[in-house]
Amino acid sequence: MSSLLSEKDLNDFISPGLACVKPAEPIEKGEKQEGDLEVGKESNDMGKVSISLQDCLACSGCITSSEEILLSQQSHTVFLEAWKNLARDTALVVSIPPQCRLSLAHYYDMSLESFDKSFLTLMKEKFGARYIVGTQIGRNITVNQTNKLLTERKSLSSSKKPALCAVCPGFVLYAEKTKPELVPYLLDVKSPQQITGALLKKAIPNIYHLTIMPCFDKKLEASRKDGEGEVDCVITPREFATMLQEQDLKLTDFLTSTDETVLKQSCSPPGWDISVHWASNEGSASGGYAYQYILHQKSLHPGSCISTITGKNSDLKEFRLMDVSNENVIASSSELYGFRNIQNMVRKLTSSGSASRNIKVLRKRATTSSNNGSSFGSAVDPSKTDFIEVMACPGGCINGGGLLNGEANSSRRRALAKSLELEYGKVIPKVSCSDHPRDDSTYKYKFSAIEKSQDVLTVGNTW
Ligand code: SF4
Ligand code: SF4
Repeated sequence: MSSLLSEKDLNDFISPGLACVKPAEPIEKGEKQEGDLEVGKESNDMGKVSISLQDCLACSGCITSSEEILLSQQSHTVFLEAWKNLARDTALVVSIPPQCRLSLAHYYDMSLESFDKSFLTLMKEKFGARYIVGTQIGRNITVNQTNKLLTERKSLSSSKKPALCAVCPGFVLYAEKTKPELVPYLLDVKSPQQITGALLKKAIPNIYHLTIMPCFDKKLEASRKDGEGEVDCVITPREFATMLQEQDLKLTDFLTSTDETVLKQSCSPPGWDISVHWASNEGSASGGYAYQYILHQKSLHPGSCISTITGKNSDLKEFRLMDVSNENVIASSSELYGFRNIQNMVRKLTSSGSASRNIKVLRKRATTSSNNGSSFGSAVDPSKTDFIEVMACPGGCINGGGLLNGEANSSRRRALAKSLELEYGKVIPKVSCSDHPRDDSTYKYKFSAIEKSQDVLTVGNTW
Protein backbone atom coordinates (compact mmCIF):
# COMPACT_ATOMS: atom_id res chain seq x y z
CA MET A 1 0.00 0.00 0.00
CA SER A 2 1.42 3.39 -0.97
CA SER A 3 2.07 6.44 1.12
CA LEU A 4 -0.88 8.20 -0.49
CA LEU A 5 -3.33 5.42 0.18
CA SER A 6 -3.28 4.15 3.72
CA GLU A 7 -5.64 2.09 5.85
CA LYS A 8 -6.31 5.20 7.94
CA ASP A 9 -7.86 6.81 4.86
CA LEU A 10 -10.27 3.94 4.54
CA ASN A 11 -11.76 4.01 8.00
CA ASP A 12 -15.26 3.41 6.71
CA PHE A 13 -14.30 -0.18 6.16
CA ILE A 14 -13.46 -3.04 8.47
CA SER A 15 -10.64 -5.48 8.37
CA PRO A 16 -11.75 -8.98 7.45
CA GLY A 17 -8.92 -10.53 9.44
CA LEU A 18 -10.44 -9.24 12.66
CA ALA A 19 -14.11 -8.93 12.03
CA CYS A 20 -15.26 -10.56 8.79
CA VAL A 21 -17.88 -13.23 9.38
CA LYS A 22 -16.61 -15.36 6.51
CA PRO A 23 -13.58 -16.73 8.38
CA ALA A 24 -16.00 -17.75 11.15
CA GLU A 25 -17.77 -20.17 8.83
CA PRO A 26 -16.83 -23.80 9.55
CA ILE A 27 -14.85 -25.46 6.76
CA GLU A 28 -15.58 -29.08 5.96
CA LYS A 29 -12.33 -31.02 5.84
CA GLY A 30 -11.55 -34.27 4.06
CA GLU A 31 -14.00 -36.78 2.74
CA LYS A 32 -15.88 -37.35 5.97
CA GLN A 33 -18.82 -39.67 5.57
CA GLU A 34 -22.20 -38.61 6.82
CA GLY A 35 -22.72 -39.86 10.36
CA ASP A 36 -18.97 -40.21 11.14
CA LEU A 37 -17.94 -38.68 14.45
CA GLU A 38 -14.44 -37.80 15.54
CA VAL A 39 -13.94 -38.05 19.29
CA GLY A 40 -12.22 -35.06 20.93
CA LYS A 41 -12.42 -32.88 17.85
CA GLU A 42 -14.38 -29.62 17.62
CA SER A 43 -16.85 -29.71 14.75
CA ASN A 44 -16.32 -26.07 13.79
CA ASP A 45 -12.61 -26.03 12.91
CA MET A 46 -11.68 -22.94 10.99
CA GLY A 47 -9.73 -23.02 7.78
CA LYS A 48 -8.22 -20.35 5.58
CA VAL A 49 -10.85 -18.64 3.45
CA SER A 50 -10.52 -16.27 0.59
CA ILE A 51 -13.15 -13.58 0.16
CA SER A 52 -14.16 -11.98 -3.09
CA LEU A 53 -16.12 -8.79 -3.71
CA GLN A 54 -18.99 -11.01 -4.86
CA ASP A 55 -18.92 -12.68 -1.42
CA CYS A 56 -19.15 -9.29 0.25
CA LEU A 57 -22.07 -8.25 -1.92
CA ALA A 58 -23.99 -11.33 -0.84
CA CYS A 59 -23.13 -11.05 2.84
CA SER A 60 -24.76 -9.02 5.58
CA GLY A 61 -21.75 -9.27 7.87
CA CYS A 62 -20.74 -5.64 7.46
CA ILE A 63 -22.04 -2.71 5.47
CA THR A 64 -19.46 -2.52 2.73
CA SER A 65 -16.31 -4.52 2.63
CA SER A 66 -12.80 -4.56 3.89
CA GLU A 67 -10.14 -2.40 2.31
CA GLU A 68 -7.92 -5.41 1.74
CA ILE A 69 -10.56 -7.08 -0.41
CA LEU A 70 -11.36 -3.92 -2.36
CA LEU A 71 -7.73 -3.15 -3.02
CA SER A 72 -6.75 -6.71 -3.87
CA GLN A 73 -9.43 -7.00 -6.53
CA GLN A 74 -10.01 -3.46 -7.78
CA SER A 75 -6.93 -1.25 -7.55
CA HIS A 76 -4.27 0.48 -9.58
CA THR A 77 -1.94 -2.54 -9.17
CA VAL A 78 -4.67 -4.80 -10.54
CA PHE A 79 -5.11 -2.36 -13.43
CA LEU A 80 -1.35 -2.23 -14.14
CA GLU A 81 -1.15 -6.02 -14.15
CA ALA A 82 -4.13 -6.33 -16.50
CA TRP A 83 -2.79 -3.54 -18.72
CA LYS A 84 0.60 -5.28 -19.08
CA ASN A 85 -1.17 -8.45 -20.15
CA LEU A 86 -3.81 -6.92 -22.45
CA ALA A 87 -4.27 -8.98 -25.60
CA ARG A 88 -3.14 -7.22 -28.78
CA ASP A 89 -6.72 -6.91 -30.02
CA THR A 90 -8.01 -5.42 -26.73
CA ALA A 91 -8.24 -1.64 -26.46
CA LEU A 92 -7.93 0.30 -23.22
CA VAL A 93 -10.82 2.74 -22.72
CA VAL A 94 -10.85 5.18 -19.79
CA SER A 95 -13.79 7.11 -18.33
CA ILE A 96 -13.70 9.89 -15.73
CA PRO A 97 -16.51 11.97 -14.14
CA PRO A 98 -16.28 15.73 -13.49
CA GLN A 99 -15.80 15.46 -9.68
CA CYS A 100 -12.59 13.44 -10.17
CA ARG A 101 -11.26 15.82 -12.84
CA LEU A 102 -11.77 18.79 -10.50
CA SER A 103 -10.20 17.01 -7.53
CA LEU A 104 -7.14 15.97 -9.57
CA ALA A 105 -6.79 19.43 -11.15
CA HIS A 106 -6.82 20.95 -7.66
CA TYR A 107 -4.29 18.39 -6.38
CA TYR A 108 -1.87 19.03 -9.25
CA ASP A 109 -2.50 22.80 -9.00
CA MET A 110 -3.68 23.03 -12.61
CA SER A 111 -6.63 24.62 -14.37
CA LEU A 112 -9.27 22.11 -15.46
CA GLU A 113 -8.28 22.60 -19.10
CA SER A 114 -4.57 21.92 -18.38
CA PHE A 115 -5.51 18.88 -16.31
CA ASP A 116 -7.75 17.48 -19.06
CA LYS A 117 -5.02 17.96 -21.69
CA SER A 118 -2.31 16.38 -19.50
CA PHE A 119 -4.57 13.50 -18.46
CA LEU A 120 -5.59 12.68 -22.03
CA THR A 121 -2.01 12.85 -23.30
CA LEU A 122 -0.72 10.71 -20.43
CA MET A 123 -3.38 8.03 -20.85
CA LYS A 124 -2.90 8.02 -24.60
CA GLU A 125 0.88 8.12 -24.83
CA LYS A 126 1.96 6.29 -21.71
CA PHE A 127 -0.84 3.75 -21.33
CA GLY A 128 -1.88 3.49 -24.98
CA ALA A 129 -5.55 4.27 -24.23
CA ARG A 130 -7.63 4.09 -27.41
CA TYR A 131 -10.54 6.18 -26.10
CA ILE A 132 -10.93 8.51 -23.12
CA VAL A 133 -14.41 9.77 -22.24
CA GLY A 134 -16.37 11.84 -19.74
CA THR A 135 -19.45 10.27 -18.15
CA GLN A 136 -22.17 12.75 -19.17
CA ILE A 137 -23.73 10.59 -21.90
CA GLY A 138 -24.23 7.87 -19.27
CA ARG A 139 -25.55 10.45 -16.80
CA ASN A 140 -28.02 11.84 -19.35
CA ILE A 141 -29.44 8.35 -19.73
CA THR A 142 -29.62 7.87 -15.94
CA VAL A 143 -31.44 11.21 -15.62
CA ASN A 144 -33.86 10.57 -18.51
CA GLN A 145 -34.72 7.03 -17.37
CA THR A 146 -35.14 8.25 -13.79
CA ASN A 147 -37.53 11.01 -14.90
CA LYS A 148 -39.53 8.59 -17.05
CA LEU A 149 -39.93 6.07 -14.23
CA LEU A 150 -40.78 8.74 -11.65
CA THR A 151 -43.45 10.19 -13.93
CA GLU A 152 -44.97 6.70 -14.37
CA ARG A 153 -44.81 6.05 -10.61
CA LYS A 154 -46.48 9.37 -9.82
CA SER A 155 -49.71 8.16 -11.36
CA LEU A 156 -49.62 4.78 -9.59
CA SER A 157 -50.96 4.73 -6.07
CA SER A 158 -49.35 1.31 -5.48
CA SER A 159 -45.72 2.46 -5.84
CA LYS A 160 -43.68 3.22 -2.75
CA LYS A 161 -43.13 6.92 -2.20
CA PRO A 162 -40.71 8.60 -2.03
CA ALA A 163 -38.59 6.81 -4.64
CA LEU A 164 -34.96 6.66 -3.58
CA CYS A 165 -32.15 7.33 -6.05
CA ALA A 166 -29.83 4.31 -6.28
CA VAL A 167 -26.72 5.72 -7.95
CA CYS A 168 -24.79 5.87 -4.65
CA PRO A 169 -23.54 2.33 -3.93
CA GLY A 170 -22.70 3.33 -0.36
CA PHE A 171 -26.38 3.92 0.35
CA VAL A 172 -27.63 0.99 -1.77
CA LEU A 173 -25.39 -1.47 0.08
CA TYR A 174 -26.53 -0.08 3.40
CA ALA A 175 -30.17 -0.56 2.36
CA GLU A 176 -29.68 -4.05 0.94
CA LYS A 177 -27.62 -5.27 3.89
CA THR A 178 -29.19 -3.63 6.89
CA LYS A 179 -32.53 -2.04 5.97
CA PRO A 180 -34.50 -4.51 3.82
CA GLU A 181 -37.63 -2.40 4.30
CA LEU A 182 -35.98 0.32 2.16
CA VAL A 183 -35.41 -1.94 -0.86
CA PRO A 184 -38.91 -1.43 -2.39
CA TYR A 185 -38.29 2.34 -2.37
CA LEU A 186 -35.09 2.05 -4.46
CA LEU A 187 -35.37 3.22 -8.06
CA ASP A 188 -33.62 0.58 -10.17
CA VAL A 189 -32.03 2.86 -12.80
CA LYS A 190 -28.28 2.25 -13.11
CA SER A 191 -25.63 4.86 -12.38
CA PRO A 192 -23.62 6.78 -15.02
CA GLN A 193 -20.59 4.59 -14.18
CA GLN A 194 -22.40 1.42 -15.22
CA ILE A 195 -24.30 2.93 -18.17
CA THR A 196 -21.09 4.48 -19.57
CA GLY A 197 -19.50 1.04 -19.33
CA ALA A 198 -22.46 -0.67 -21.00
CA LEU A 199 -22.45 1.89 -23.86
CA LEU A 200 -18.72 1.51 -24.44
CA LYS A 201 -18.84 -2.28 -24.40
CA LYS A 202 -21.79 -2.25 -26.80
CA ALA A 203 -20.12 0.15 -29.24
CA ILE A 204 -16.55 -1.15 -29.27
CA PRO A 205 -15.65 -4.83 -29.33
CA ASN A 206 -12.82 -6.07 -27.09
CA ILE A 207 -12.17 -3.31 -24.64
CA TYR A 208 -10.80 -3.10 -21.14
CA HIS A 209 -12.75 -0.35 -19.34
CA LEU A 210 -10.94 1.51 -16.58
CA THR A 211 -12.91 4.16 -14.71
CA ILE A 212 -11.77 6.73 -12.18
CA MET A 213 -14.41 7.29 -9.49
CA PRO A 214 -14.71 9.42 -6.33
CA CYS A 215 -15.14 6.61 -3.77
CA PHE A 216 -14.24 3.04 -2.90
CA ASP A 217 -17.88 1.87 -2.92
CA LYS A 218 -17.87 2.29 -6.69
CA LYS A 219 -15.57 -0.76 -6.80
CA LEU A 220 -18.31 -2.81 -5.18
CA GLU A 221 -20.88 -1.41 -7.59
CA ALA A 222 -18.75 -2.57 -10.53
CA SER A 223 -18.62 -6.06 -8.98
CA ARG A 224 -22.41 -6.48 -8.73
CA LYS A 225 -23.80 -9.45 -10.65
CA ASP A 226 -26.36 -7.17 -12.38
CA GLY A 227 -23.56 -5.01 -13.82
CA GLU A 228 -20.98 -7.66 -14.58
CA GLY A 229 -18.57 -6.84 -17.39
CA GLU A 230 -19.57 -3.18 -17.75
CA VAL A 231 -16.52 -1.91 -15.87
CA ASP A 232 -13.29 -3.87 -15.64
CA CYS A 233 -11.51 -1.82 -13.01
CA VAL A 234 -12.38 1.13 -10.75
CA ILE A 235 -9.66 3.28 -9.25
CA THR A 236 -10.00 6.48 -7.25
CA PRO A 237 -8.13 9.77 -7.89
CA ARG A 238 -5.98 8.89 -4.85
CA GLU A 239 -4.94 5.64 -6.46
CA PHE A 240 -4.37 7.40 -9.78
CA ALA A 241 -1.95 9.85 -8.06
CA THR A 242 -0.26 6.93 -6.29
CA MET A 243 0.09 5.06 -9.56
CA LEU A 244 1.84 8.02 -11.21
CA GLN A 245 4.14 8.37 -8.20
CA GLU A 246 5.04 4.68 -8.30
CA GLN A 247 5.63 4.78 -12.04
CA ASP A 248 7.78 7.91 -11.67
CA LEU A 249 5.48 9.87 -13.92
CA LYS A 250 4.80 13.60 -13.60
CA LEU A 251 1.43 14.68 -14.90
CA THR A 252 2.71 18.16 -15.75
CA ASP A 253 5.25 16.61 -18.18
CA PHE A 254 2.30 15.61 -20.35
CA LEU A 255 0.84 19.10 -20.70
CA THR A 256 0.67 19.74 -24.41
CA SER A 257 0.09 22.76 -26.63
CA THR A 258 -2.38 20.76 -28.73
CA ASP A 259 -5.80 22.39 -28.77
CA GLU A 260 -8.12 20.86 -26.11
CA THR A 261 -10.97 20.29 -28.59
CA VAL A 262 -8.69 18.54 -31.10
CA LEU A 263 -7.26 16.35 -28.36
CA LYS A 264 -10.66 15.41 -26.94
CA GLN A 265 -11.97 14.64 -30.41
CA SER A 266 -9.01 12.35 -31.14
CA CYS A 267 -9.80 10.38 -27.95
CA SER A 268 -13.57 10.06 -28.46
CA PRO A 269 -15.26 6.93 -29.80
CA PRO A 270 -17.08 7.42 -33.13
CA GLY A 271 -20.37 9.28 -32.60
CA TRP A 272 -19.49 10.55 -29.09
CA ASP A 273 -19.94 14.35 -29.06
CA ILE A 274 -17.23 15.99 -26.93
CA SER A 275 -19.52 18.90 -26.04
CA VAL A 276 -21.78 16.34 -24.35
CA HIS A 277 -19.67 13.61 -22.80
CA TRP A 278 -17.18 16.04 -21.18
CA ALA A 279 -19.99 18.28 -19.87
CA SER A 280 -22.23 18.21 -16.81
CA ASN A 281 -25.83 19.28 -16.07
CA GLU A 282 -27.73 21.66 -13.80
CA GLY A 283 -28.24 20.52 -10.23
CA SER A 284 -25.98 19.19 -7.50
CA ALA A 285 -22.38 18.04 -7.96
CA SER A 286 -23.60 14.50 -7.21
CA GLY A 287 -25.46 14.24 -10.52
CA GLY A 288 -28.32 16.70 -9.99
CA TYR A 289 -30.98 13.96 -10.17
CA ALA A 290 -33.41 15.70 -7.77
CA TYR A 291 -33.27 19.02 -9.62
CA GLN A 292 -33.45 17.33 -13.04
CA TYR A 293 -36.69 15.59 -12.03
CA ILE A 294 -38.24 18.96 -11.15
CA LEU A 295 -36.99 20.48 -14.42
CA HIS A 296 -38.61 17.58 -16.29
CA GLN A 297 -41.91 18.07 -14.46
CA LYS A 298 -41.74 21.81 -15.16
CA SER A 299 -41.47 21.06 -18.90
CA LEU A 300 -44.73 19.07 -18.56
CA HIS A 301 -46.52 21.84 -16.62
CA PRO A 302 -46.28 25.23 -18.34
CA GLY A 303 -47.04 28.09 -15.96
CA SER A 304 -45.39 26.41 -12.97
CA CYS A 305 -42.42 27.69 -10.98
CA ILE A 306 -39.69 26.05 -8.88
CA SER A 307 -39.27 26.88 -5.23
CA THR A 308 -36.12 25.76 -3.39
CA ILE A 309 -36.11 25.27 0.38
CA THR A 310 -32.93 24.65 2.35
CA GLY A 311 -33.03 22.31 5.30
CA LYS A 312 -31.75 22.53 8.85
CA ASN A 313 -28.27 21.53 7.64
CA SER A 314 -26.47 22.10 4.33
CA ASP A 315 -27.01 18.46 3.32
CA LEU A 316 -30.79 18.82 3.05
CA LYS A 317 -32.60 20.64 0.29
CA GLU A 318 -36.08 20.39 -1.21
CA PHE A 319 -37.37 21.44 -4.62
CA ARG A 320 -41.09 22.06 -5.17
CA LEU A 321 -42.81 22.69 -8.45
CA MET A 322 -45.67 25.08 -7.71
CA ASP A 323 -48.76 25.85 -9.71
CA VAL A 324 -48.57 29.65 -9.86
CA SER A 325 -52.34 30.03 -10.11
CA ASN A 326 -53.17 28.33 -6.81
CA GLU A 327 -49.79 27.58 -5.15
CA ASN A 328 -50.46 23.85 -5.13
CA VAL A 329 -47.40 21.60 -5.19
CA ILE A 330 -47.33 19.69 -8.50
CA ALA A 331 -44.13 17.71 -7.91
CA SER A 332 -41.33 17.66 -5.38
CA SER A 333 -37.88 16.17 -4.83
CA SER A 334 -35.06 16.50 -2.35
CA GLU A 335 -31.31 16.15 -1.86
CA LEU A 336 -30.33 14.26 1.28
CA TYR A 337 -26.66 13.59 2.01
CA GLY A 338 -24.69 12.02 4.82
CA PHE A 339 -25.47 9.20 7.18
CA ARG A 340 -27.03 11.33 9.90
CA ASN A 341 -29.70 12.55 7.48
CA ILE A 342 -30.08 9.02 6.08
CA GLN A 343 -30.80 7.72 9.58
CA ASN A 344 -33.52 10.34 10.07
CA MET A 345 -34.99 9.45 6.69
CA VAL A 346 -35.01 5.73 7.57
CA ARG A 347 -36.81 6.48 10.84
CA LYS A 348 -39.49 8.41 8.95
CA LEU A 349 -39.93 5.84 6.19
CA THR A 350 -40.09 2.79 8.39
CA SER A 351 -42.81 2.19 10.90
CA SER A 352 -40.45 2.39 13.88
CA GLY A 353 -41.40 6.01 14.66
CA SER A 354 -43.57 6.39 17.75
CA ALA A 355 -47.30 6.74 17.22
CA SER A 356 -47.51 9.88 19.32
CA ARG A 357 -44.89 11.64 17.20
CA ASN A 358 -46.78 10.70 14.03
CA ILE A 359 -49.97 12.19 15.43
CA LYS A 360 -48.18 15.45 16.23
CA VAL A 361 -46.69 15.61 12.74
CA LEU A 362 -50.04 14.91 11.15
CA ARG A 363 -51.73 17.63 13.21
CA LYS A 364 -49.04 20.13 12.25
CA ARG A 365 -49.37 19.22 8.59
CA ALA A 366 -53.16 19.46 8.76
CA THR A 367 -52.78 23.12 9.74
CA THR A 368 -50.39 23.96 6.91
CA SER A 369 -52.22 21.97 4.26
CA SER A 370 -55.24 24.22 4.40
CA ASN A 371 -53.11 26.99 2.88
CA ASN A 372 -52.02 25.26 -0.29
CA GLY A 373 -54.30 22.26 -0.64
CA SER A 374 -51.42 19.80 -0.16
CA SER A 375 -49.57 18.06 2.66
CA PHE A 376 -46.52 20.34 2.34
CA GLY A 377 -45.41 22.53 5.21
CA SER A 378 -42.83 25.29 5.06
CA ALA A 379 -39.98 23.09 6.39
CA VAL A 380 -37.97 20.58 4.35
CA ASP A 381 -39.33 17.04 4.67
CA PRO A 382 -37.75 14.68 2.12
CA SER A 383 -40.03 11.82 3.18
CA LYS A 384 -43.02 13.69 1.70
CA THR A 385 -41.38 14.35 -1.67
CA ASP A 386 -41.71 12.21 -4.82
CA PHE A 387 -38.01 11.44 -5.07
CA ILE A 388 -34.89 11.68 -2.88
CA GLU A 389 -31.35 12.00 -4.24
CA VAL A 390 -29.71 10.06 -1.40
CA MET A 391 -25.93 10.19 -1.11
CA ALA A 392 -23.92 8.51 1.64
CA CYS A 393 -21.15 11.11 1.84
CA PRO A 394 -21.81 14.37 3.68
CA GLY A 395 -21.63 16.97 0.91
CA GLY A 396 -22.27 14.27 -1.74
CA CYS A 397 -19.89 12.97 -4.40
CA ILE A 398 -17.75 16.13 -4.42
CA ASN A 399 -16.61 14.99 -0.97
CA GLY A 400 -16.12 11.31 -1.86
CA GLY A 401 -13.62 9.28 0.19
CA GLY A 402 -11.42 8.53 -2.84
CA LEU A 403 -10.88 12.16 -3.82
CA LEU A 404 -7.66 13.99 -3.07
CA ASN A 405 -8.91 16.29 -0.37
CA GLY A 406 -5.86 15.58 1.82
CA GLU A 407 -7.46 17.06 4.94
CA ALA A 408 -7.76 14.97 8.07
CA ASN A 409 -9.85 17.69 9.70
CA SER A 410 -13.48 17.17 8.67
CA SER A 411 -14.49 20.85 8.64
CA ARG A 412 -11.51 21.72 6.41
CA ARG A 413 -12.45 18.79 4.17
CA ARG A 414 -15.97 20.17 3.88
CA ALA A 415 -14.60 23.64 3.10
CA LEU A 416 -12.51 22.19 0.27
CA ALA A 417 -15.51 20.22 -0.99
CA LYS A 418 -17.56 23.46 -0.94
CA SER A 419 -14.96 25.29 -3.03
CA LEU A 420 -14.79 22.35 -5.50
CA GLU A 421 -18.59 22.46 -5.68
CA LEU A 422 -18.47 26.14 -6.64
CA GLU A 423 -15.85 25.34 -9.30
CA TYR A 424 -18.09 22.54 -10.54
CA GLY A 425 -20.89 25.04 -11.10
CA LYS A 426 -18.61 27.55 -12.83
CA VAL A 427 -16.04 25.77 -15.01
CA ILE A 428 -17.81 22.69 -16.37
CA PRO A 429 -20.14 23.46 -19.28
CA LYS A 430 -23.74 22.33 -18.74
CA VAL A 431 -25.96 20.45 -21.15
CA SER A 432 -29.67 19.81 -21.02
CA CYS A 433 -30.10 16.10 -20.23
CA SER A 434 -33.31 15.84 -22.25
CA ASP A 435 -31.70 17.15 -25.49
CA HIS A 436 -29.12 14.43 -25.71
CA PRO A 437 -28.86 10.87 -26.87
CA ARG A 438 -32.07 9.00 -26.36
CA ASP A 439 -31.41 5.36 -25.62
CA ASP A 440 -34.35 3.01 -25.34
CA SER A 441 -32.38 0.15 -23.80
CA THR A 442 -33.12 -0.31 -20.14
CA TYR A 443 -30.28 -0.19 -17.67
CA LYS A 444 -31.63 -1.66 -14.48
CA TYR A 445 -30.32 -3.04 -11.23
CA LYS A 446 -31.92 -6.02 -9.54
CA PHE A 447 -32.08 -5.13 -5.88
CA SER A 448 -32.74 -7.59 -3.13
CA ALA A 449 -32.50 -7.46 0.60
CA ILE A 450 -29.60 -9.59 1.79
CA GLU A 451 -30.59 -12.12 4.39
CA LYS A 452 -29.14 -11.54 7.83
CA SER A 453 -26.22 -13.83 8.51
CA GLN A 454 -26.74 -16.48 11.20
CA ASP A 455 -23.03 -16.46 11.98
CA VAL A 456 -21.61 -16.06 15.42
CA LEU A 457 -20.20 -12.57 14.93
CA THR A 458 -22.06 -9.35 14.52
CA VAL A 459 -19.74 -6.94 12.82
CA GLY A 460 -19.77 -3.27 13.65
CA ASN A 461 -18.83 -0.41 11.39
CA THR A 462 -17.98 3.25 11.72
CA TRP A 463 -20.85 4.53 9.59
S1 SF4 B 1 -19.26 -8.05 3.70
FE1 SF4 B 1 -19.16 -10.05 4.69
S2 SF4 B 1 -17.56 -11.14 3.51
FE2 SF4 B 1 -17.29 -8.94 3.07
S3 SF4 B 1 -15.78 -8.23 4.62
FE3 SF4 B 1 -17.86 -7.82 5.44
S4 SF4 B 1 -18.30 -9.62 6.71
FE4 SF4 B 1 -16.58 -10.19 5.34
S1 SF4 C 1 -21.99 9.94 -2.21
FE1 SF4 C 1 -19.97 9.15 -1.65
S2 SF4 C 1 -20.26 6.89 -1.49
FE2 SF4 C 1 -21.99 7.74 -2.65
S3 SF4 C 1 -21.39 7.56 -4.84
FE3 SF4 C 1 -20.87 9.66 -4.13
S4 SF4 C 1 -18.74 9.50 -3.49
FE4 SF4 C 1 -19.51 7.40 -3.59
